[in-house]
Amino acid sequence: MPGRVAPKALAQSAQQAREDVTEQEALGSAFEAAFEAVPNGVVLLDAQQRISWLNTHACVHMALDPRGDIGQCLTNLVRDPALVAALGDPSAPEDFRIGSHRADQVLLVQVRSYAPGRRMVLTHDVTEADRMEAMRRDFVAHVSHEIRTPLTVLAGFVETMQTLALQEKEHHRVLELMKQQTSRMESLVSDLLLLATLEGSPKPAIAQWVPLGPLLQSAVSDGQHLSVGQHDLLCGVAPEQELELAVEEREMASALGNLVSNAVRYTPAGGRIELQANLRADGYLELKVIDNGIGIERHHLPRITQRFYRVDKSRSRATGGTGLGLAIVKHAITRYGGELLVDSTPGEGSCFTLTLPPARVRVVGTELLSSPGFMPSSPS
Ligand code: ADP
Repeated sequence: MPGRVAPKALAQSAQQAREDVTEQEALGSAFEAAFEAVPNGVVLLDAQQRISWLNTHACVHMALDPRGDIGQCLTNLVRDPALVAALGDPSAPEDFRIGSHRADQVLLVQVRSYAPGRRMVLTHDVTEADRMEAMRRDFVAHVSHEIRTPLTVLAGFVETMQTLALQEKEHHRVLELMKQQTSRMESLVSDLLLLATLEGSPKPAIAQWVPLGPLLQSAVSDGQHLSVGQHDLLCGVAPEQELELAVEEREMASALGNLVSNAVRYTPAGGRIELQANLRADGYLELKVIDNGIGIERHHLPRITQRFYRVDKSRSRATGGTGLGLAIVKHAITRYGGELLVDSTPGEGSCFTLTLPPARVRVVGTELLSSPGFMPSSPS
């Protein structure tokens, strides 16, 4: 009979409808799980800007409640003017930054339409990316400034030589000053390259053991060379304590060399500089460079390992400093799981300590003496 559906067919279509609903529900749950897994905040809004769904990241970013805030108007909960403008006016910018409820956090917000009259709000935490970008801009500005200064001086000298007929003595003096400026640029470029290498390379494996004694001795003799006899340089190495370090020799030499060079440059003539090595009871090695120089005021200490941070700019430049020395030392030592510690008193002097973890230090040969005696090297 036309228009009449057989009970069997009816049962089949009811079964099909149930399966379709189950499939739809499964698909809905899969979409929900997928949005939940997105590493950014997602808020789905209806045509009245009320929240229909949101993921956990959105709750964290905007301090929203996953249960209580469904059905609420988003702009009543997040009253940022840029968000209110973007949701109220379709011609307002769709991508913008807002501060989150956490004072130190910046969010990139993107508003997109996903169905007629419906929009979604995506939030990304860009705090770290913004900080890195600011650091990069700052770094480029610093490097440009550091290079421009000697370049300007050089250009001035070149012009002088082109336009003036200089006496031989004057000619020599100008060439000497030009040489100083080129070495300044050379030091800057080599420090920048070293820093870039250290920053980009992974933690070194324990592959080779470098004897500590010669490392300290060579840092002392470099210091003596720089000091040209104006300071007493002492090396407190216990002769019984023959230690080896699992480090890359050039890096460790460069770290120690930078500390000794700073001690010489920031200690007035007649001052005293001492290198000490001390194996602590917990197995950590401490390498100290101690001077009785100009010292550093306490409020500068947290920043002196930042690239280009200088306390005494003119003294740093006058003595050939690039402002990168301590940044290099810090990078080099932290790669080995060690630390750079600074203690200083203005007018009294400074103590820079490198620590190395027990895994990177070993005692060779004889037993350690409990109280090692330090042997001063001959003053320069
Ligand atoms: P620079 O090339 O300017 O010496 P560093 O990164 O080695 O750069 O040091 C950063 C700043 O820390 C220096 O400009 C200086 O002001 C201060 N400083 C470093 N070592 C000492 C020290 N031994 N005594 C006093 N001040 C120091």
